[in-house]
Amino acid sequence: MSKPRIAIIGAGLGGVAAAALMQRRGHDVRLYEQAPAFSRLGAGIHLGPNVMKIMRRIGCEDALNTMGSHPDYWYSRDWQTAEAISQIPLGDYALKTYGASYLTVHRGDFHKLMTDAVAPGTIAFGKCLQSVEDTGSEVRLTFTDGSVEVAGIVIGADGVNSKIREHLLGAEPPRYTGYVAHRAVFPASLLGNHPYDMCVKWWSQDRHMMVYYVTEKRDEYYYVTGVPQAEWPTGVSMMESSREEMREAFEGYHPDVLNLIDVSPSITKWPLLERDPLPLWSRGRLVLLGDACHPMKPHMAQGAAMAIEDAAMLTRCFDEVGTTDYTGAFALYEANRAARASKVQLVSHNNTWLRTNEDPAWVFAYDVFNVPLVAPQEAGAKQDASQEALSAAG
Ligand SMILES: Cc1cc2nc3c(=O)[nH]c(=O)nc-3n(C[C@H](O)[C@H](O)[C@H](O)COP(=O)(O)OP(=O)(O)OC[C@H]3O[C@@H](n4cnc5c(N)ncnc54)[C@H](O)[C@@H]3O)c2cc1C
Repeated sequence: MSKPRIAIIGAGLGGVAAAALMQRRGHDVRLYEQAPAFSRLGAGIHLGPNVMKIMRRIGCEDALNTMGSHPDYWYSRDWQTAEAISQIPLGDYALKTYGASYLTVHRGDFHKLMTDAVAPGTIAFGKCLQSVEDTGSEVRLTFTDGSVEVAGIVIGADGVNSKIREHLLGAEPPRYTGYVAHRAVFPASLLGNHPYDMCVKWWSQDRHMMVYYVTEKRDEYYYVTGVPQAEWPTGVSMMESSREEMREAFEGYHPDVLNLIDVSPSITKWPLLERDPLPLWSRGRLVLLGDACHPMKPHMAQGAAMAIEDAAMLTRCFDEVGTTDYTGAFALYEANRAARASKVQLVSHNNTWLRTNEDPAWVFAYDVFNVPLVAPQEAGAKQDASQEALSAAG
């Protein structure tokens, strides 16, 4: 029997990872992306060994190792004194202990590398999904430009406001957490000769600033914050911030932090959004991954990592069960992803990750292709506990 055609909605990091991995396993994949094209969004991203092992399968590991910054340590520092309150070994230690490198890179460069890893012509740009109809024998996808496409399996990798999630579970906006993230990327030359950490998180009671290089040459520096802000206008994805606003938010912080603010040419601000763990990840021929399924605060730097791990696990489950029995493959996928994704959502929500000298092996040593699989009926209890914890924390 021929393999069903797979349509992936959304060419973000989760969607392109799914396409690249599934094409390498011989699947017929098409990606539909609402944006007319991609630009180099001003942001950095951490790529832990758990992600780099997946990049090895896609063939991007070497290019990323050449492109990214390789911090020896993750430092946590006191907001006023700069005292190191935790020092987590990365660098060679990560390579030996967790089986791949720990990198920080420019998000746009990473995304470009990933989109280049899918076969030419796979991504259809300017295709904004409007409605979905699962007839039982196929899925009909209608786009806002009036075009209609048909697929055998549809993967919703369409982010926090997912249309596929809405089709499965009804319209419900994500929850604003009461926190925003400021982001700035700038030439490291603006910092002069003063030495800066390769990867550091500055913490005070209710806010933080995470700072790292995004290139191997260390010529671009990046920060991302977590700062309380009571309100955020619904439906607005980001807005401009300013040095004045940042100086007020980080008043009393160490001079190194204030200097970063002072040299920032421009600063943006993003709402941090969450959802409680979903009661289902799939129905019929439709399945979710990434932020469509488990959006989280970015405080573990693992949101995209979870999307990419989802993509890899779904590919593995297609290998295990086959795509003809897509219901069985989806059940196996959810059974092997929901507990981990919910736990990462909860730790991200609590913003405790690496604040003390904890062992990060449960995140970094994870190898999605070699972890023993659990059967769907065995997974239930573990998932319920994580789901209840996040709902209670929210
Ligand atoms: C401030 C901040 C910092 C972060 N830092 C990190 C980090 O260091 N490490 C990390 O792992 N994660 C980080 N994250 C989280 C990470 O960005 C997300 O978890 C990740 O991007 C999710 O990937 P995704 O593919 O599921 O969704 P997205 O990246 O949101 O991609 C969804 C795609 O679907 C498209 N789309 C949406 N609707 C439609 C439609 N109707 N039709 C067609 N296409 C559609 C969108 O245009 C988009 O391209 C951070 C997040 C924030 C906010």
